[in-house]
Amino acid sequence: MSKKIFWPTILFVIAISAAIGLLAPTSHNAAARAIGEIAPVSDVWRAALPHDPAAATDAYMARISPAAKARSDAYFEGGYWLTLWDLVMTLVASWLLLTSGVLARLRDKLEQRSRSKGLLVLVMGLGYILLSTLISLPLTVYQGFYREHEYGLANQTLLPWLGEQAIATAVACIIGPLFLALIYWVIRRAPKTWPVWGAVVTVGFMSFMMLLGPVYIDPLFNTYKPITDEKIKQPILSMARANGVPTDNVYEFDASKQSNRISANVSGIFGSAAVRMNDNLLKRTTLPEIKGVLGHEIGHYVLDHIYTGIIEFGIILVVGFAFLHWALRYSITRWGQQFGIRDASDPLGLPLVVGIFSIYMFAATPVLNTMTRVQEAQADAFGLNASQEPDGFAEVDLKLTEYRKSNPGDLEEFFFFDHPSPKKRIFASMRWKAEHLKLD
Ligand SMILES: [Zn+2]
Repeated sequence: MSKKIFWPTILFVIAISAAIGLLAPTSHNAAARAIGEIAPVSDVWRAALPHDPAAATDAYMARISPAAKARSDAYFEGGYWLTLWDLVMTLVASWLLLTSGVLARLRDKLEQRSRSKGLLVLVMGLGYILLSTLISLPLTVYQGFYREHEYGLANQTLLPWLGEQAIATAVACIIGPLFLALIYWVIRRAPKTWPVWGAVVTVGFMSFMMLLGPVYIDPLFNTYKPITDEKIKQPILSMARANGVPTDNVYEFDASKQSNRISANVSGIFGSAAVRMNDNLLKRTTLPEIKGVLGHEIGHYVLDHIYTGIIEFGIILVVGFAFLHWALRYSITRWGQQFGIRDASDPLGLPLVVGIFSIYMFAATPVLNTMTRVQEAQADAFGLNASQEPDGFAEVDLKLTEYRKSNPGDLEEFFFFDHPSPKKRIFASMRWKAEHLKLD
């Protein structure tokens, strides 16, 4: 791409993004529609469920209408392709930024004014993040706004959604350059062994962000307040106490302004714990369902999933950085002169670094998904034991089929699912129930 058409291209990309946003279908009252598609039942229905886990699972699954199943299958399968398009977009952005020479000019100007290498990485990192965010904007608007409305999953209109994107980009523009400055510092200090030290630094940085995120970043998007309904708060706190979670409050946040998705989390690292549930969970589910979900979340906390997750991710990172180290050296030998990249520590190579690392992360998707999915299955088992609400949990799993394919093949689940499939989770709940009925 020639220098002259870079900025017109950026303007064109912004215009395309605006068009996608304005043409998006609006999904009003999606909550009512989504709930309507799963046949409601009473306690009488639950009491009459067969004891055989497979038969009980089938009874739950039969409540998803064919239309609802077709819609959630299409939504979820589209997500497989989006993983690929996200990678393609990252590579396109990298290619545009390298071939247009726009970052090279920025580097040369910066080097004339200051000799600080750290400052150079900070500004180059900021430039890269801003420009690549703009280049991939059409896909972001399609994926995060158009498509969510197309499937009736979002509640937000375009302007507030764009406002949140701007906040998220601003946060990335602060955190991203700082992180890159750290990594490039490691590359300069340990040019041969940086993949190991880079992974150590990344894991440390991630832990720091997990500490700051709930306090400083999450409130930028949602309002958190203590739950006042004692009928919900007390059973949750009781379950938390019984399992040694150090907390004495439960918070709710207004996720319904963004979507109808139900969710909760027990976050906290280094001895802190906060139990947080969204208002969709409060509005759309019953107490047994809430207890089922919170039992699962308490499971993540008690089973130290943050720590095992960080260690597992650290291993993925060491391998990834080693691949990056090799591929970057190869690419710079081959194309460095053409683009003006001097060596691995030159931040002009950022588009190459991000492009190569994205290819690695794309290839690692099944591994990352399996790591998460295994933890989720563990939290499910913990949650059933803690809450003793198999029907409540099965009911929630049924609601999750709004956006998660309900019954995938085994290979499909291995590659694409970061949670066990809804059918498997319902079966696990019914199996727990059957075994406990036997014990009674
Ligand atoms: Zn979970």
